Amino acid sequence: MFETVIGLEVHVQLNTKTKLFCTCPTSFAEHQNMNTCPTCLALPGALPVVNKEAAVKAMRLGYAINANVNHTSYFDRKSYFYPDSPSAYQITQLTKAIVQKGEVFIDLKDGTRKRIGMTQAHLEADAGKNMHEGAYSKVDLNRSGTPLLEIVSDPDMRSSEEAVAFLKKLHSTVRYLDISDANMQEGSFRCDVNVSIRPKGQEAFGTRVEIKNINSFKFVAASIAYEVQRQTEAYEDGVYEQEVNQETRLWNVDEGVTKSMRGKEEAADYRYFPDPDLRPLVVTQEMIAEAKIMPELPDAKVKRYIEELGLKLYDAQVITADKEMAYYFEEMLAQGAVAKTAVTWLTSELQGRLNKIGSSIETSPIDAKTLGTLVANISDDSISGKGGKELLDYMMDNESRDVNTLIDKLGLAQVSDDGAILVIIDEILAGNPDKVEQYKGGKDKLFGFFVGQTMKASKGTANPAKVNELLKERLS
Ligand code: ADP
Ligand code: MG
Ligand code: ZN
Repeated sequence: MFETVIGLEVHVQLNTKTKLFCTCPTSFAEHQNMNTCPTCLALPGALPVVNKEAAVKAMRLGYAINANVNHTSYFDRKSYFYPDSPSAYQITQLTKAIVQKGEVFIDLKDGTRKRIGMTQAHLEADAGKNMHEGAYSKVDLNRSGTPLLEIVSDPDMRSSEEAVAFLKKLHSTVRYLDISDANMQEGSFRCDVNVSIRPKGQEAFGTRVEIKNINSFKFVAASIAYEVQRQTEAYEDGVYEQEVNQETRLWNVDEGVTKSMRGKEEAADYRYFPDPDLRPLVVTQEMIAEAKIMPELPDAKVKRYIEELGLKLYDAQVITADKEMAYYFEEMLAQGAVAKTAVTWLTSELQGRLNKIGSSIETSPIDAKTLGTLVANISDDSISGKGGKELLDYMMDNESRDVNTLIDKLGLAQVSDDGAILVIIDEILAGNPDKVEQYKGGKDKLFGFFVGQTMKASKGTANPAKVNELLKERLS
C-alpha cells in the first residue's frame, strides 16, 4: 500500500494598480507592449523600485494565514533565458521571503479538519507572453513585471481531495482579502502540483514530479490521480528508479495524461544571487497597520454563523466558501430575513434558478436586498412559501422587482388574521354538516378535507399553519 504526498506552489497575481518594480499600469492594454517602460523592458540603467501596495498585500495574506511577516526581506535574481523575459532573469525572493511559515485549515468530506503548513509566500515579477503566429513568434511585455505572490505549501497533503480543498480555501481567502481577482481561467490563480508516493510506513519521501501551471480544480484532481497511478505502477513493476524522475511535467488536457517537459533544474542552474539593484524590503509601521486591516475570513464566519445564527456546519461552509455568497447572505439578513430560511432561499431556490439561466450570484438579476425582502415577508408570514416561489419566478422573468408592490399586484398577501380565516372556516363547516358529523365520530382523515376546502376558498392566501390551528379549535 502506498501513501500519496502532495505539496503545492500557487501563483497569485496581485491586483495592484501598478507593476512590482515600475509605475506601468497592470490594467488591460489595448495594444501589445503598451504598458511598458525602460524598467519592465529591462533596458540598461533602468532601476527597479519596489511597489508598496504589492508588499502590503503580501503581508495581508501573511497575517491571514498566521505566518511570520518579515520586517526585512530580500530580492534575488533567478537567471534563465527565455524571450518573454528581457532581463534574462526573474526577480524573486529565494533566501528570505516577506512571508514565512503559515498555516491553512481545510475541511474534509468526512467532517474532519486538517492543518496544512505553509512554507512561505514570496513576491516575484511575472514574465511577458510569447505568442506564436504561423511562422512568427511575437513577444508581448505588457505582463512583464506584474506582481505575483508565490505561495508554497509544505508537503502536507495526502490525497487529491486534500489538495483541492486546500486550493479552494486559499482561493477563497485571497478573494476575501481582495489581494487578487484569482480568476483561474485568466491565469491570475494558477498552481504547480508536486506529487510523490511512498510505501505506507516509510518515513523518507519518494521522488517528486512537479506538474506545472494547472488552472482548474478539476485538472488538479485529475493530474494527481494520473500521477499516483503512474508512479504506483512503476513501483509495482520494479521500474520506479527508471521511470519516476524528479522532473517537470505538463498536464495534457486532451489526452488526460501528464507528460515529461524537462528535467528538474537544480537551484544551482538558476545561479541565484541577491539583486544588487534592490535594497532590502523593510516594512514600516504604517504598512503593518494597513496590512492588518482585514475582513472577516471564512473560518471566523463559519464559527459565527453556527454560534450566533444557528446554522448547520455544512450550510455555514457552503455560504462562506465564496465571498460573494457570504456578502449576499448577510445583506439578506439585514433586510430581516430569518437565517435558516435565507440559506434555503439562497442556496436552493435562487441558486437553482440561476443555474438554469447560466447565471451566478455575481450576475444574479435578483439582488440581495430583493431576495432578503422576499424572505423577510415569508419569515413574518406576510406571504407563504408557495407565494414566495411564485414571486421569485415572476421577478426572474420581469424587470419589475419591487417585492412589496408585487405582493399586492400578484395577490400574494397571506391572510393570517384569525377573524378573516374563521369566517371562511365557519362557512365550510356549515356547508358540510355530514362530514363534520363523521369527523367527530372518529374519521380523522377528514381533517385534510377541511384544510383543503378552507385553503381553496381563500384562494390559497390563508396561512396554512393558522388554518390548521383554527380548524382544530373549531372541531374539538
Ligand atoms: P522547488 O523550489 O525546486 O520547486 P521546493 O523544495 O521549494 O522545490 O518544493 C516545492 C514544493 O514541492 C513544495 O510545495 C513542497 O511542499 C513540495 N514537495 C517537496 N518534496 C516533495 C515530495 N517528496 N513530494 C511531494 N511534494 C513535495
Ligand atoms: Mg517549484
Ligand atoms: Zn514598466
